[in-house]
Amino acid sequence: MATYFVLLGPPGAGKGTQAKLAAERLGLAHVSSGDLFRENLSAKTELGMLAKGFMDRGELVPDDVTIAMVRDRLQRPDCKNGALLDGFPRTPAQAEALEAMLSEFGGNVSVAPYINVPMDVLIERLSGRWSCRAAGHVYHEKYNPPKVAGKCDMDGSELYQRDDDKAETVRRRIEVYLNQTAPLLVHYRQKGALVEIDGTLPIDDVSRELMQHLGAAQS
Ligand code: ADP
Ligand code: AMP
Repeated sequence: MATYFVLLGPPGAGKGTQAKLAAERLGLAHVSSGDLFRENLSAKTELGMLAKGFMDRGELVPDDVTIAMVRDRLQRPDCKNGALLDGFPRTPAQAEALEAMLSEFGGNVSVAPYINVPMDVLIERLSGRWSCRAAGHVYHEKYNPPKVAGKCDMDGSELYQRDDDKAETVRRRIEVYLNQTAPLLVHYRQKGALVEIDGTLPIDDVSRELMQHLGAAQS
C-alpha cells in the first residue's frame, strides 16, 4: 500500500527543507504545491498565470484548481509508492479532497507531522530565505548558507529571493495560514495522525525527529 505523509506548519516552518531531505531518504516523491505553482509560473502556463495574482498577494489559489493540480501530480509514476506532501492540503476542502483521492489510489495519510515554530521566528526565516531556480532547494543566509554565495550546492543553479517573502506579503501569508490552514491541525489530531515537532531546533535535529516518525510509519 502506498504511504502518504502530510507536512503541516506555517510558512517558513521548514516544511520544504525537511521534505527534500526526508523524501530522498525514504524514496518517496516530494510533492510541493508551491513548487508546482512556481514551475507553472516560470513556464508561463495558463495555470501559472491564474495562480500568480493570488501568490503575489499572499492569498491561497482557489481550491478547485489546486486540487486538480495535486491530483494530477499524485498520479505520476514516481508517486506509485506514495508521497510526502508539502503545502497541501491548506484548507478543510483540500483535506477532504485528498482523502477521497487517496482512497481511490489505495492509500491514506498515515502521519501528519506538524513543524511548530512561533510566529515571531517566521519573518526572520523568510526574509533570509534563498531558493534555487532549478529544483527549489532551500537555503538561509544565516542558518543554512550555501557553500558558494548565490549558487545551489546540489545543482549549481542560481539562488533567488521569492517575491512573496517580502515582509508585507509574509504577514498576509501568516494571517491566511492562521485563518484557513491552522484548523487542519484539529482535523489530523482527531484522526490520530498528528505528531508535533519542535521546529525551532537546528535543521539536523528537526530532521532526526521527523525521520523517527516517518520511518516508523513506513516500516
Ligand atoms: P516552508 O517550506 O515551511 O515555508 P522552508 O523549508 O522554505 O519553509 O524554510 C524557511 C527558511 O527557514 C529557509 O530559509 C530555511 O533555510 C530556513 N530553515 C528551515 N528550517 C530551519 C531550522 N530548523 N532552523 C533555522 N532555519 C531553518
Ligand atoms: P509555498 O511555496 O507553500 O509557500 O506556497 C506559495 C504560494 O503558493 C502560497 O502563498 C499560495 O498562494 C500558493 N499555494 C501553495 N500551495 C497552496 C495550496 N495548497 N492551496 C492554495 N494555494 C497554495
